[in-house]
Amino acid sequence: MHLNPYGEYAVLLAASLADDWPADRAGIEARTRMLGMTMDFAESPDDHPRTRAVIDEWLRVVDAGNPGERAALLNDLMAQAAAYPRLTDHGGEGWHIHYRDEANDSLPDVLRAVISVGTALHLTTRGIHRLSRCAAGQMAGDPCTAVVVDVTRNGRQRYCSVRCANRAAVRRHRARRPLAAPGG
Ligand SMILES: [Zn+2]
Ligand SMILES: [Zn+2]
Repeated sequence: MHLNPYGEYAVLLAASLADDWPADRAGIEARTRMLGMTMDFAESPDDHPRTRAVIDEWLRVVDAGNPGERAALLNDLMAQAAAYPRLTDHGGEGWHIHYRDEANDSLPDVLRAVISVGTALHLTTRGIHRLSRCAAGQMAGDPCTAVVVDVTRNGRQRYCSVRCANRAAVRRHRARRPLAAPGG
């Protein structure tokens, strides 16, 4: 599999799994295909819950309060996941780097390596702040918990969707309106 220099697909895969968690193992595997992974994974009965645990650990990186905490959590995740980097050109993909033991092709282990290293590349090449929860969901009572992976040119994406951006704008507008206008 290919990890591009910005780690983009791996971060998008993690966000996709976090936002829309598949009901079974086949759903997880289908999601890896959707995001461009081509490799076959070894199958094990606890793949579904173990992959969930990887995503939950990754969400702590998303929710970290500051860059230092974020880096520390991500370093922990990479320490569990990453082997020494290896050059490989399997499957005619062209030369690229793998960050995992070739012998271990378990679904949760491969995803932990790909997602943690991909997230590290994304945060260091594009910016340490470019991973967050949708800003609409941070307002009291708003249900959105979606992850925002900011791959925009200007790096100012705060909402997961136009719908959430609009809802937040309406709410800000209402908050600005005076509660009562004595004397008209
Ligand atoms: Zn590969
Ligand atoms: Zn949202």
